[in-house]
Amino acid sequence: MIKFLDLQQINAPYAEAFRTKLDAALAKGWFILGDEVTRFETDFAAYCGVKHCIGVANGLDALTLIFKSYIELGRLQPGDEVIVPANTYIASIIAVMQAGLTPVLVEPDAQTFNLDPRQITEKITPKTKALLAVHLYGQLCDMHAIIGIAKSHHLLVVEDAAQAHGAAIGDMKAGNFGDAAGFSFYPGKNLGALGDAGAVTTNDDALAAMVKSLRNYGSETKYYNDHIGVNSRLDELQAAFLNVKLPDLDTQNRARRTIAQYYLENISNDKIVLPAYQFSDHHVFHQFVIRTAHRDELQAFLKSNDIETLIHYPVPPHKQKALSCWNHLSFPITEQIHREVLSLPISPVMTPDEVAHITNILNQY
Ligand SMILES: *Cc1c(COP(=O)(O)O)cnc(C)c1O
Repeated sequence: MIKFLDLQQINAPYAEAFRTKLDAALAKGWFILGDEVTRFETDFAAYCGVKHCIGVANGLDALTLIFKSYIELGRLQPGDEVIVPANTYIASIIAVMQAGLTPVLVEPDAQTFNLDPRQITEKITPKTKALLAVHLYGQLCDMHAIIGIAKSHHLLVVEDAAQAHGAAIGDMKAGNFGDAAGFSFYPGKNLGALGDAGAVTTNDDALAAMVKSLRNYGSETKYYNDHIGVNSRLDELQAAFLNVKLPDLDTQNRARRTIAQYYLENISNDKIVLPAYQFSDHHVFHQFVIRTAHRDELQAFLKSNDIETLIHYPVPPHKQKALSCWNHLSFPITEQIHREVLSLPISPVMTPDEVAHITNILNQY
């Protein structure tokens, strides 16, 4: 059986280092906002090339806290519109809603699955104040075009970089293109903790200070509260585990790219559409997503050959029960993507034999 993602194998090489970190934490008796969090914030900011990184509890909170902070700072008002891709993971949309802002869905580019600059312009109204650029499956959005649109309409640009740790154009990495970015270190992400974890990155001093305050009850000095904050701190232990893994992120992203390149060059089947991608650093292949008109049949065929696949995602946000107010809306590109996509196994611990085997089976379909 080839697993979709083998988290045991991914974390096995670090077991000894993780135990050492746990022992150190037990010996020290300090579990919240300590040296490990500070070190991770410093190192991840340096990795992304940004001035500030603020550790938070998860990726959803990272995005929510960015928007809430902009409201506290007076840069956004409750009810302002935020443009969001219609085909994103629902967390992107929930973050906007939890901050009291109004998400406005736009169709993605059918080839890259990412925000389509032409569709954005059509949805801008006088109430539009921000754009949420989701780097879906690990591929950077067309940030040059998106930032151009944002500048001419005075919009904030927030990146949802939860799937794009390390994706870059030249020296510029995800998390450094927009005004701020939210990252997730959910165990299955390219940089994954052993539980929930997240971070905000930004070059904006005022935003960084506000996120830092809001994540900790709106408090800078213990028991003195300046804002109505939340409890969304990055765990000291999770930060310690992330500190162990961060130095390997680039190597692991390269391993993902090598697998992706093999799939792209060797999968050859008229019934399968391969993902659109330019060979450069701008994709870290959090997912390798193919499309086919017979998705469920192909998934069953792979399963019968002991190959596990997943669907990211089976139901678009506007068709979810939770968003019933949008169920009547129609986004044909988004809906087609959700009907046709299938994510193949891709991870730094897969062997060349496994990748070749999956490719062979796909070519026999
Ligand atoms: C994982 C993910 C999130 C949310 O991260 P959590 O840590 O699970 O809260 C947000 N957006 C996207 C695109 C994601 O993939």
